[in-house]
Amino acid sequence: MDLTFSPEEQAFADSMRRYARERLMPEYAKWDQGNSYPRERLRELAQLGVTGLAIPAEYGGSEGTFVMAGIAAEELGRGDINATVFLQTHMIGGSIAIHAQEQVKRQWLPALASGERIACLALTEPGAGSDAAAIAASARRDGAHYVIRGEKASISLAGMADVAVMFARTGGPGARGISAFMVPLDLPGVSRNLYRSAGGRLMQRGSLVFEDVRVPADHLIGEEGGGFHQVMEAFDFNRAIIALACLGAAEQSLDETIEYARQRRTFGKPLALHEGVSFQIAEHLTLVSAARWLAYHCLALRDRDQRHTREAAMCKWMGPKAAAEAIHACIILHGWLGYDMDLPLQQRLRDVVGNEIADGTPEIMKAIVVREAFGREYSPLR
Ligand SMILES: Cc1cc2nc3c(=O)[nH]c(=O)nc-3n(C[C@H](O)[C@H](O)[C@H](O)COP(=O)(O)OP(=O)(O)OC[C@H]3O[C@@H](n4cnc5c(N)ncnc54)[C@H](O)[C@@H]3O)c2cc1C
Repeated sequence: MDLTFSPEEQAFADSMRRYARERLMPEYAKWDQGNSYPRERLRELAQLGVTGLAIPAEYGGSEGTFVMAGIAAEELGRGDINATVFLQTHMIGGSIAIHAQEQVKRQWLPALASGERIACLALTEPGAGSDAAAIAASARRDGAHYVIRGEKASISLAGMADVAVMFARTGGPGARGISAFMVPLDLPGVSRNLYRSAGGRLMQRGSLVFEDVRVPADHLIGEEGGGFHQVMEAFDFNRAIIALACLGAAEQSLDETIEYARQRRTFGKPLALHEGVSFQIAEHLTLVSAARWLAYHCLALRDRDQRHTREAAMCKWMGPKAAAEAIHACIILHGWLGYDMDLPLQQRLRDVVGNEIADGTPEIMKAIVVREAFGREYSPLR
């Protein structure tokens, strides 16, 4: 058992950390004001290989491992946790779209890998979030098209995405009636409404409304009725990626707090020499590290094609929680300064909390662990 990065993985981590420090960190607060994120930044992420990790080289992708995706999330998360949304949506979108028909793959995958086009994932609806198998959006076959109708809620990148990997009902009730589609968002009948988010504002979260949108029939991904299975498989790896993005933000916060505790003096000595301070940091470093290795373990299982649903749910619950608690402690340990908008700590905390909800709440993650550990008959999810 080897729990260290290979030289190639370490070099990738170093390049990500450099980019996060030089390009992302200085402008982290800027995107909190609601400024539009420049496409140029996406192309930079593409050049680093980030947007093409789940896309095969024959479609222009960088074809990385899932562990590498985790490394990218953790290191970029140190600079701007929200920038990892492009990694996430293109990982999920790419891994689902790979089941599309050849001409659709040729049309979309190279553009997603190169950062020329942005994908979002549209599953949640106003009436169905945790219970995703209860979605109501419908896709009705009409000759050479599907006609899509419905509303998707709380979609990351709703304000800027070019295409949605979208889920709609083609059959009866339940998971088996759900299909996945590539839906270009410039088609007639698509409209967008942006939310006023408490954090993660770079992501321009909002709703997407589809009013009788005619999508070419070849934009169905895989078989009719296969959509739910495809998205749940993608959620499994993305849960570890979300955890690592949050943990990266926490690690950066702890590093900054260690430095502050060395400099700031109270009662005649540095904060770092008060055990009430240094022990807290030691505890958070330990919990963050434990969650981090659980997430990498999950991604290593995925790289080996081994089952990892239980580990994914564990780290999606534990990672953002450990990160939020660590950042909260960092705010308190900075005193009044920690609560100031000039420091990034408050923004990181707001951003991490959104990630506790996205891709499945803590309650749903625990219900998945229960299902995996106890058996389906004991889980509210079945
Ligand atoms: C920042 C952010 C980004 C997001 N991005 C996307 C995106 O890109 N695409 C997308 O499709 N969706 C996205 N979402 C939506 C997200 O996946 C849902 O919000 C999430 O799955 C929860 O669904 P809900 O909000 O409808 O809550 P509900 O399902 O209404 O749940 C409400 C509360 O009840 C709890 N609960 C529900 N059922 C149970 C149960 N059986 N047992 C115990 N507790 C339960 C939940 O844990 C939660 O606390 C995003 C959300 C956020 C916050």
